[in-house]
Amino acid sequence: ETPLIELKNITFKYHGEEEKNALNDVSLNIYPGEWVALIGHNGSGKSTLAKTINGLIVPNAGDIFVKGEKVTEETLWDIRRMIGMVFQNPDNQFVGSTVEDDVAFGLENQGVPREDMLTRVKDALEKVRMSDFMIKEPARLSGGQKQRVAIAGVIALRPDVIILDEATSMLDPQGRKEVIDTIRKIKEESNLTVISITHDIDEAAYANRVLVMREGEIIQEGTPGEIFSHGEELIELGLDVPFPEKLKAALKEREIDVPDTYLTEEGM
Ligand code: ADP
Repeated sequence: ETPLIELKNITFKYHGEEEKNALNDVSLNIYPGEWVALIGHNGSGKSTLAKTINGLIVPNAGDIFVKGEKVTEETLWDIRRMIGMVFQNPDNQFVGSTVEDDVAFGLENQGVPREDMLTRVKDALEKVRMSDFMIKEPARLSGGQKQRVAIAGVIALRPDVIILDEATSMLDPQGRKEVIDTIRKIKEESNLTVISITHDIDEAAYANRVLVMREGEIIQEGTPGEIFSHGEELIELGLDVPFPEKLKAALKEREIDVPDTYLTEEGM
């Protein structure tokens, strides 16, 4: 199978950061329909990797291929269209004065005809279960609702990939659940590829594959079961570890085998 996204030996250093690379020789394949979680400490390079994937950052070395085609300056805009991003702060992503206008914004920019646009806005809001809020002011919504609208704005553009860059980290537990459930539902209904950067084990546990980053490199990769069965290492991996019992329950619910030795209270 051809990877949807292929990173080959990507290195990137921010201007003025002389001593270290934000990304250091990273290679990675992402396949169509996968849900990949990126975890790791703050500063390990997760956001930089996400921005590299969607073309916001142009690496200093290495190549990126999307659907087997090498990304160049000429194709960068097409790539950005194929890969949508939802960011951390729900209050920083609104451009419209109503939910409906907000979701329509990207489509307007792409010159989608008005009738088609209205259908697509409605469909996208239905997918995130926000169609009852079309004429609400975004500012009046809860955090979880705001992020669902942000997700609608992205999926209305019919991307191949959605990147959630800590999209649940500013939300309360209810908001987190809403956003995760929304992504799960969209995944059930479509072949959307999801990349989620997260400190939330509840979110990462739904991924097909978890990548652990440290100091600009991918240091571990595996299924949630493989990565999370080393309970004592979870904090080292930069995850917010909820109560051990909650974590155990979360993994059990997803039918991830939990070893007997898993997460003793002392280990936490
Ligand atoms: P993460 O998303 O895992 O928290 P980042 O990708 O944001 O990590 O950061 C990786 C490294 O790059 C860190 O050392 C960080 O300090 C540095 N960095 C991130 N953004 C910038 C920037 N705009 N300018 C300079 N250095 C940056």
